[in-house]
Amino acid sequence: MVSRVIPVDPFDLVVFGATGDLANRKILPGLYRRFFAGQIPEGSQIIGAARTEMDAEAFRAQTRAAITEHVGKAKQDKAQIEAFLNILDYVAIDAKGEAGWAELAAKVQPGKVHAFYFSVAPALFGDLAERLHRNKMAGPEARIVVEKPFGRDLETARALNATLAAHFDEHQIYRIDHYLGKETVQNLMAVRFANILFEPLWNSQYIDHVQITVAETVGIGGRGSYYDKSGAMRDMVQNHLMQLLCLIAMEPPYHFDPDAVRDEKLKVIRALQPVQSSDIVRGQYLGLKRKGEEGLAGYLEDVEDRNSKTESYIALKTHVANWRWQGTPFYLRTGKRLRARTSEIAITFKQPPHSIFDEDDADWRENVLVIRLQPNEGMNLKVMIKEPGPGGMRLVQVPLDMSFAEALGEDGADIPDAYERLIMDVIRGNQTLFMRGDEVEAAWAWTDPILNGWVERGDKPQPYDSGSSGPEDALMLMHRDGRRWREIRE
Ligand code: NAP
Repeated sequence: MVSRVIPVDPFDLVVFGATGDLANRKILPGLYRRFFAGQIPEGSQIIGAARTEMDAEAFRAQTRAAITEHVGKAKQDKAQIEAFLNILDYVAIDAKGEAGWAELAAKVQPGKVHAFYFSVAPALFGDLAERLHRNKMAGPEARIVVEKPFGRDLETARALNATLAAHFDEHQIYRIDHYLGKETVQNLMAVRFANILFEPLWNSQYIDHVQITVAETVGIGGRGSYYDKSGAMRDMVQNHLMQLLCLIAMEPPYHFDPDAVRDEKLKVIRALQPVQSSDIVRGQYLGLKRKGEEGLAGYLEDVEDRNSKTESYIALKTHVANWRWQGTPFYLRTGKRLRARTSEIAITFKQPPHSIFDEDDADWRENVLVIRLQPNEGMNLKVMIKEPGPGGMRLVQVPLDMSFAEALGEDGADIPDAYERLIMDVIRGNQTLFMRGDEVEAAWAWTDPILNGWVERGDKPQPYDSGSSGPEDALMLMHRDGRRWREIRE
């Protein structure tokens, strides 16, 4: 199957923070991949901007290196790379000063879509917005893309929204949550709303519970100073896991339209019940000493504050208080240094109301729909069937397994990276996969009491072993409801 490349008009994209990690690992390689796919039209330009003094040639050399390192070999075509580098330019600019702004304004061409990607620390978002405005680059054709974290609580998120709103309308602001750019995440909406199969069962009458897991094997390594101020709740739950929950729990929007979709997600966030302290478990990974090997540092060795109470793991139970979900708990967990790197959503259905088969002849399991975000994006529906063979009517559970890469043929193996997709959505002016200001604020309004509760009580996270499934109490969180977490494995 050949993937469709939706044409866009020529555009100017300015990447602030062009010398940084995100620009070099994701944004610039992603733009090259879109160029390679034929999606960046002639007449477009990509302008890097950061304080580092360099000319366009040096920026091209930096980008060439980023492409070599981060783009798969199959797309490393010399002529294409050179053609892509030709549309790059660079301006040395200080978000807090005046240097470079007039030069940038002169480079940005009238009559095109102008996108400004703020790949810098959030503390600079306001400065950039204000200077874009002052230098007459905040017109109706302008769009700004802002990275996470969007605030660290409700108050800071509100202040940030107000700062951006001073110069840009909401329809010009694209708050990135790269989870929403993942192919499988969008597939969730397709599966739910383009098939009749699941929707009639998609409620508390038929769904026992939902598990959302985002497990990582890495620790916080070199990101200790950033991460320790954040923790798993702010870094993962308030944004990524919450967005996944919304896509599972939302009502069908009247149309696949940015505001219709985001209105429905907002209703879910507003319906989330406060989380009781007994329904939440925090953890911090321990180091791992291996005989004769270097071993792995524990969380407290990875950060400056040896008494840090920041969590690298979180598991919680919450409810969506509305008619559809009354009585169906949502269990969320995410953590670092866990057993395997995996992200998935598992929807466990209830058992049939009455069994016509003998209990002894069945290894009864509930139907589970698993949506895998990584690795091996796909879907898996566990169903009961008769065990093949002459052994009578014995029942076993088997998976109906679909890997998107396999199902879509060769092209499926080449699913675009979330950043590529999202950047092209910005150019197209499609905000469906971006968080609206009120959504972000509602998510913080739910998160704030949890964060404040830890501080007020002086709660400490529980230690857990590197390479494990997280703290013991997280297992208990489900056991006491008569349920089990799915195994964390690739
Ligand atoms: P980074 O590596 O520290 O890069 C920051 C960039 O900002 C550099 O290009 C730096 O270049 C530029 N910069 C700093 N001060 C500036 C100023 N006064 N004026 C203009 N440019 C300035 O950070 P990053 O990891 O790329 O992250 C960028 C943003 O993305 C942050 O908001 C981060 O939270 C978010 N984010 C990053 C990742 C990731 O994987 N890295 C993931 C999710 C979100 P100069 O020093 O040359 O000015």
